[in-house]
Amino acid sequence: MAEAYKLNIRPTTLDEYIGQEHIKENLKVFIKATQKRNSYLDHILLAGPAGLGKTTLAQIVANELQVQLKITSGNILDKKGDLAGILTSLDEGDILFIDEIHRLNPSIEETLYSAMEDFKVDIIIGKGKTARSIRIEIKPFTLIGATTRTGLLTAPLLSRFGIILNFDYYSVESLKEIVKRTAKILNTPIDEKSAEEIAKRSRGTPRIANKLVKRVIDFVTIKHNSKLNLQNTIEAFEFLGIDKYGLNPLDRKYLHILIELFNCKPVGINTISMALNENKETIEEMIEPYLLRIGMIDKTPKGRVPTKKAVNHIKSI
Ligand code: ADP
Repeated sequence: MAEAYKLNIRPTTLDEYIGQEHIKENLKVFIKATQKRNSYLDHILLAGPAGLGKTTLAQIVANELQVQLKITSGNILDKKGDLAGILTSLDEGDILFIDEIHRLNPSIEETLYSAMEDFKVDIIIGKGKTARSIRIEIKPFTLIGATTRTGLLTAPLLSRFGIILNFDYYSVESLKEIVKRTAKILNTPIDEKSAEEIAKRSRGTPRIANKLVKRVIDFVTIKHNSKLNLQNTIEAFEFLGIDKYGLNPLDRKYLHILIELFNCKPVGINTISMALNENKETIEEMIEPYLLRIGMIDKTPKGRVPTKKAVNHIKSI
């Protein structure tokens, strides 16, 4: 049930995919050219923050090309044999999607080089002294890699992608369309103003927009048994602790620490991590990018400092 519900919300064609016009235009051309040449799509790297639609786009490409898609992730592929197993199971033209590809360990990455370039893979047969490596051919396939940290990709891997597509955060307009589409799929009427309010608090990210639509609908229609309007949508956000900038309690606690605890002086990530009781990765990947983007913090050589906008915001609530 939960899975069916998820699948419904994910767009399945390029035309259903909202926003990222530049990426869609590019992909349409590459897909058409591939079909015309009756060949295989070049390897593609999708780069950008979490929740912007990279996995969804890989599924759409497979769907448009009518090929199979296998999904795995850089942090779970830790044995050479596992990758070789996946690669040899691919049919001609199939797509292998590797999420968080910057997390691949170096030996797995090397296996990928010959697979991407020559469609060949080295496998070890036998054990101990009798073990030997043989090179076998695999069927031509397309690798779609996704990364939230392009900077962590090694140069040899990066250079093997023929197409690199960078995702932008979504505009409020695009997010509003996504919100309306999701509400429709969930059979809940939504007015323009409520849709816009949800879009504005979604941090430029469709995954957050979809989550907020569901939570606002639950609050308004289930708890209060009424239709969505701007007033009860705002009430829902108050209940959820999501403010007008889309900040949640953890973001605000982060800002409180910089402002109240450290008096707006520069603070290092380790200190923030201890004060907030959150690991550094969560802070660097989930909290700070958005605060930086909306001008609430600055990163200086001495540490993080809150901006005037952050101070005004925190003092006003
Ligand atoms: P990523 O792989 O970049 O972390 P996903 O592809 O998992 O992101 O997308 C997160 C959610 O947002 C999905 O459930 C999908 O339904 C929705 N979504 C993403 N991009 C779009 C889009 N362009 N139009 C509509 N919905 C989208």
